Amino acid sequence: MSFMRQDALTGRWVAVAAGRQARPNDFRQGVESHAKRKSVEENCPFCPGHEAQTPAEVFVFGREETASANSQGWKIRAFPNKYPAMLPTAESPIHAAPSLLTPSGAAQGGHEVLVCSPYHDQGLADLSAEHLNELLRAINIRNQAMQDSFPDSRYVLTFGNQGPMAGATLAHSHMQMISTPVVPAMVVDKQENFIRHRENTGHCLLCDLIQNEERDNTRVIASNSSWLVVAPWASRFAFEMRLIPRRCKTGMQFCNAQELIDLADILSFSLNRLESVNSGANFNLVIHNAPVASRNGCGYGNERLDALLKDQADNFHWHLEILPRLSRMAGFETGTGFAINSVPAEEAAAALRKQ
Ligand SMILES: [Zn+2]
Ligand SMILES: [Zn+2]
Repeated sequence: MSFMRQDALTGRWVAVAAGRQARPNDFRQGVESHAKRKSVEENCPFCPGHEAQTPAEVFVFGREETASANSQGWKIRAFPNKYPAMLPTAESPIHAAPSLLTPSGAAQGGHEVLVCSPYHDQGLADLSAEHLNELLRAINIRNQAMQDSFPDSRYVLTFGNQGPMAGATLAHSHMQMISTPVVPAMVVDKQENFIRHRENTGHCLLCDLIQNEERDNTRVIASNSSWLVVAPWASRFAFEMRLIPRRCKTGMQFCNAQELIDLADILSFSLNRLESVNSGANFNLVIHNAPVASRNGCGYGNERLDALLKDQADNFHWHLEILPRLSRMAGFETGTGFAINSVPAEEAAAALRKQ
């Protein structure tokens, strides 16, 4: 039996193919095992001792203050991406005169890499909660620095790709941060749904969702005093997880020290449960903060969306998503925008919350 579900937050529809009853082990992938990994890889530019192979660092955590920049001894290290998707200075577009039919603009913004650990063989799930907490704090620091460096940016996306199915080209665990001059369509969709829900009910959509999921309890994976982890009702990916802060804020930068400690704990738990259910699972980790408030008069380049953001950015309830990439997107997904997920959220949650 298949049925369609819609995600109230993203507005996206998913076809849930429940009849397949796919067991977690069916999704095991032929990715490198822990045993095959090395602690230092000769050809890896992210390993300690290879600092000269990356652009000069902009941030490190864990190295002695007396040590020289771009030397070994760090725990977390950030630097501009050598092959950036966005460029710090505006280059003239190929088509200088954008029109209604050929909209264009400069790809101006920052693109940074945060290497998560000095050990080549440590995935995010292998990091201690304390180390993850340091990584989250580093992300907040670099996010603010990027907003300060690129005042025309309207969004800063922090994400991680683990494994080739998730788009990673280097195995050494790292996160990336990209600031963009326009707000991503996926964030705009969420923003519109937050606003619509508030207009209809007077409440925040994710605050209501927390209450609803805890009452229902079939899709809850984990919780602590600051966080709730759920398998989203209309999960696009098998074993997808949404990590929602209980305190309604627009971004991770507003977390207090205890909330970041609690987030590191529950993130560590969630990543390890995914690893237990699907050893070596490839995944994307995405942080969705609210769009950056308009400065310098730049906008979406679209009147409706500019009006949407102008007074409404405070409606956004930030969150993290863990998106396992166990199968490739095919023609149906690409052609419709619908996902097909063979593991209903309730089954995924039951498998993930077991200890
Ligand atoms: Zn490495
Ligand atoms: Zn909220």
